[in-house]
Amino acid sequence: MSEMQTAPQQVDAVVVGAGFAGLYQLHRLLKQGLNVRSFEAGNGVGGTWYWNRYPGARVDSQSHLYQYWFSDELLAEWNWGERFPAQPETERYLNHVCDRFGLREHITFGTRVTSADFDNASERWLVTTDKGERLSAQFLVMNTGGLSVPLPPPFKGHETFKGVTCHTSHWPSEGIDLDGKRVAVVGTGATGIQVIQTIADRVGEMTVFQRTANYTIPMRNPKLTDADRATMRAGYPAMKGHVQKTFAGFDFDFDPRPFAELPAEERQRVMEEGWADGSLKFWMGTFGDVFFDAGVAEIFSDFVRDRIRARINDPKVADKLVPKGHSFGTRRVPLETGYYEAFNRSNVHLVDVNEDAILHVDATGIQTASGHHDFDVIIYATGFDAGTGALTSIDVRGRAGVTIRDAWASGIRTTMGLQVHGYPNLFMTMGPYSPAAAFCNVPTCLDQQVDWISDAIAHVRAKGARALEPMAETEAKWLEHNDEVAKITLVAQTNHSWYTGANVAGKERRLLAYAGGVGPYRELCDDVRARGFAGFALT
Ligand code: NAP
Repeated sequence: MSEMQTAPQQVDAVVVGAGFAGLYQLHRLLKQGLNVRSFEAGNGVGGTWYWNRYPGARVDSQSHLYQYWFSDELLAEWNWGERFPAQPETERYLNHVCDRFGLREHITFGTRVTSADFDNASERWLVTTDKGERLSAQFLVMNTGGLSVPLPPPFKGHETFKGVTCHTSHWPSEGIDLDGKRVAVVGTGATGIQVIQTIADRVGEMTVFQRTANYTIPMRNPKLTDADRATMRAGYPAMKGHVQKTFAGFDFDFDPRPFAELPAEERQRVMEEGWADGSLKFWMGTFGDVFFDAGVAEIFSDFVRDRIRARINDPKVADKLVPKGHSFGTRRVPLETGYYEAFNRSNVHLVDVNEDAILHVDATGIQTASGHHDFDVIIYATGFDAGTGALTSIDVRGRAGVTIRDAWASGIRTTMGLQVHGYPNLFMTMGPYSPAAAFCNVPTCLDQQVDWISDAIAHVRAKGARALEPMAETEAKWLEHNDEVAKITLVAQTNHSWYTGANVAGKERRLLAYAGGVGPYRELCDDVRARGFAGFALT
């Protein structure tokens, strides 16, 4: 046995993941004086923005909101180029942050954490990597992302395809040659939409396989000027605290007036104004009733359906692309740029798999009920094991020696999406039952969660304690509260969405994200912290 195997490296904390959350987490813990090792499966920083380099990958939050708030110097010096930055710009930003704050030397790239076992005697985590490293850490922070584990291709025979095939989240950095090629795209979620609209004019022929048409909002994405950036910067001091108080972590929030009490012209005016913003404001910054009131959601649905239909030349194609069977806002609403116009091109074809089911994939393409389609490239934009996938793919064994995967098989549970009873000193960001899991401008929520986790760790150290863990009754109360809030929303009632785990066979059907709003959630977290982490056991 080598020495490395017998004597694990002693560290204060292991941080897993070097994306938006992981970088800030590492920065905070280093500043608090901890000895930290960070592990990242990718060969570079960025997380989502490292892996998702498919054509058209772009942020659906405005650049002034999709960034870190912890450093005024950083806010002053980084110049965003577009209102909605594309993947390369976001990846550059994260690399800049990594180097500016001296984080890179603490990160081990190209390395996956494969297991973490809690040792009851020492109350420390024994962490193992796929490179054979072993570490003993007091704290284990999983900044592993909510949408980081792609689902395998869902069709029989996919491995027999002789052409090029790729899940969007594993797009090779050297790219895929699509020029003039016969390309299949499976999936029309936020990712599929971005791919389709971006490659339509490059490919020879493209066939899009759609199962569910989504409601979308046209993105308004001007290049930013120095004047724009100056205006943005002037707004930062006020915005910094404000985004933590809104429903979804943006700088806009719901109109407080009940929809039902407003005259039709006023409702229309607010909706038109939200629409014209070309952002998620139409969804998360007009009327909150759209989340709770089926009648209001239907009015929003019709508003969007009319606008989609008007852009599609062929009424038969329009019938397929106009969403039905669910209401606006009950599934993630993607932003788009020229998506519907792509279907007006003669080289783009749409197959509704509800009418013409995919039977299998073979060496040359895709067999549907009505015939065979030959392809050079098959792109799977088929989504992720959201919220839980990253944690259940690692063998994380808590006090009772049970993996989170097994523990969650009989019911996913967390305390505020930050910790799990039975897993002391294990922390997570974007975990189930926090707004970050779905209903948040992600950096806003990560900022808040990393701060809370870092303060919790500081608390344990200040008390000279070994571990912090939510009590069983605290967790039960959180789940009860989470479900109480969820059950009045339309999202929780909409099956067939990754929001409710319905995109993964065998996964529990339960709203994965806390729907009470970013502001109220932050207040609850702040309250726990202010009361000395009340409801959590210190050992
Ligand atoms: P997704 O929303 O889960 O979409 C997956 C797509 O694949 C859906 O259209 C789904 O159809 C389809 N699909 C899955 N299995 C299928 C099958 N067997 N046959 C036919 N179709 C199948 O995944 P995503 O588009 O990657 O997006 C995931 C999330 O990532 C988004 O909701 C968003 O939160 C985030 N994201 C954000 C951005 C951004 O900020 N710009 C961009 C991309 C992604 P059904 O709908 O019928 O299940």
